[in-house]
Amino acid sequence: MGERAVKNVLISGASIAGPALAFWLTRYGINTTVVEKASSLRGGGYPIDIRGTALDAVERMGLYPQMRAAHVDSQSIAFVDERGAVIAKMDPEAVTGGVRGRDVEIRRGDIATILYAATKDKANYKFNDSIAALDEHADGVAVTFASGDTGTYDIVIGADGLHSNTRSLIFGDESQFEKYIGFCFAGFTIPNIFGLDRSALAYTLPGKNAVVYAGNDGGPAHAFLIFRHPTSPFRKRIADEDKRKLTASMFEGVNGWIVPQLVEDMRKAEDLFFDAVSQIHMPIWSRGRIALAGDAAHATSFLSGQGSSMALVGAYILAGELATQPNYTSAFEAYEKLARPFVEMNQALVEEGKHIMIPDTQEELDARNAMFRRMAETPVGNVVRKADSRQIHSALALPDYS
Ligand SMILES: Cc1cc2nc3c(=O)[nH]c(=O)nc-3n(C[C@H](O)[C@H](O)[C@H](O)COP(=O)(O)OP(=O)(O)OC[C@H]3O[C@@H](n4cnc5c(N)ncnc54)[C@H](O)[C@@H]3O)c2cc1C
Repeated sequence: MGERAVKNVLISGASIAGPALAFWLTRYGINTTVVEKASSLRGGGYPIDIRGTALDAVERMGLYPQMRAAHVDSQSIAFVDERGAVIAKMDPEAVTGGVRGRDVEIRRGDIATILYAATKDKANYKFNDSIAALDEHADGVAVTFASGDTGTYDIVIGADGLHSNTRSLIFGDESQFEKYIGFCFAGFTIPNIFGLDRSALAYTLPGKNAVVYAGNDGGPAHAFLIFRHPTSPFRKRIADEDKRKLTASMFEGVNGWIVPQLVEDMRKAEDLFFDAVSQIHMPIWSRGRIALAGDAAHATSFLSGQGSSMALVGAYILAGELATQPNYTSAFEAYEKLARPFVEMNQALVEEGKHIMIPDTQEELDARNAMFRRMAETPVGNVVRKADSRQIHSALALPDYS
């Protein structure tokens, strides 16, 4: 292998892709700094699923037992009508194509905490800061941080999410790469009025869905208001108040189930999380000494349910190639060559997720509900997703870099 060309790496973002990459880079003896704009690691959050090839990556990290210990273990999702009567109640895996007993359903903050705990003594974490400027030269990248600190690194990896700062600095405006799926969502915490325990309720209208769920922490419930909207609101800056107004206007006149109450709760929520349902499609994931990982490179959107898994797999491959290729250029090429086809297959799952969760028309919604009723009567596992999503989740065999 010879002497490694890459010895000193800066990663932007400490959620899933960033700390997972730090895990592998430090294992290969590469000096790693992670800069995170939040003042500390953000815990909690919505549950995400780790499946297929990503579980192999987690097992190779030796972190599968910790992650399974934090498994939310959702038991059911019930689709209700305007009076709250259950149309059909199913295993979550019937909708997601997951594998009960093997997959990990874990809150985003919990997986970030596990990855951080496994790396905090080996990597240098720099919270409450952000990259302000990147100046690439022949020997490295000179970085100026928002705090005024400076540093020089062999390479810089942007793992700073869907709205990546690193991507904007190097590749330009997000709108060039954003594939807007046509929906926005508002997520917020509400009292657990239904006494839900590891279960979800969903009330779907054409182009809209109101979801309430609770995990296994005995805490409050969480609500999502998802709605079709013709353009991505992130094409321009959108103020917090406008996010609330937009969401409320989209559910105006919807009086079924507890939607009016949810809209009121959303207006007052202190932890509102609003975003567009978008993917990132880039013609290339690196330029010079800077590369992207996780959602920054290839967000899949939550309607595909595969973003975190892609982040874990991509981090494993990128670090492995950096450790084994003669230089960063060939490592970035090999990373993209291997990971891109897998990522693109998983991004394509969004189409089915969309039709399952938010059918466009009343006709499609009726057909979906009829299918759900049949399934609930004779549960036959993974019949909702037409494509063999399980196969797609596991379509990549990880290389061995040891
Ligand atoms: C509601 C919802 C449900 C989801 N469900 C699933 C699911 O079931 N399965 C699944 O696999 N995925 C799911 N996802 C997607 C998943 O959350 C993402 O794909 C995953 O978190 C991507 O990880 P990441 O590390 O690439 O980016 P992110 O998790 O977005 O993290 C980016 C990090 O970068 C930091 N950052 C941002 N800007 C800067 C900056 N300027 N400087 C420094 N740091 C910065 C952020 O604070 C954050 O810590 C869901 C997403 C949502 C919103």
